[in-house]
Amino acid sequence: MNAARAAVAVLVLAGLLIFSASQSQPAPLEITQKPIMFGTLRRQLTLEYIQRHYDPHATSITFQPVMIVVHWTASSSLQSAWNEFNPERLTGRADIASAGQLNTSAPFLIDRNGAAYQLMPETLMARHAIGLNRRAIGIENVGNDDLTGAQVETDARLIEMLAQRYPVQYLIGHLEYGRFRGSALWEEREADYFTVKPDPGADFMRRLRLRLAKDGWHFKARL
Ligand SMILES: [Zn+2]
Repeated sequence: MNAARAAVAVLVLAGLLIFSASQSQPAPLEITQKPIMFGTLRRQLTLEYIQRHYDPHATSITFQPVMIVVHWTASSSLQSAWNEFNPERLTGRADIASAGQLNTSAPFLIDRNGAAYQLMPETLMARHAIGLNRRAIGIENVGNDDLTGAQVETDARLIEMLAQRYPVQYLIGHLEYGRFRGSALWEEREADYFTVKPDPGADFMRRLRLRLAKDGWHFKARL
């Protein structure tokens, strides 16, 4: 083969590789910004929560994520879930009210049709998983024990995107978070502060992990 032919062969091969790579890459996940209130009050309540539960000397509400925790909202519509997360101060929720005034939230909310929404920056701490809020990014799925295949698909694509952005090693459903109680990752300073959770269901987590494995993604579910 002369040099010119070799060059053409290399170009054709490169073209084929680029073509096959573009075939296997899905379009980037579309995420609609739907911000909740995150003003001075929420920042102050977040820092108070961190100082009380994790580190009395903390001065920052940002963190480096190493985990993703998946939830269901227990509300039936996107808007009702958003309405619950939007206020900066917690109201109702007698089960956790004594542990601080910061309202619950999560950076990502996935509608039943798989549409993805971002509510706040994912590196600011959200109150969604006792003991692990400065470890984990939360993904909330609209619904209850009836989450959809479209939500499995979007959760998987979002998790893959986040794992490319941050050193994410762990993926759990909220129902599994007790496994980390007392571990090196668990930051909670109040030993009795813990609630048993069913979300997002063992079956949803099984389907989500299968979907991620299809793309070659495997995360730890315990230390
Ligand atoms: Zn949850």
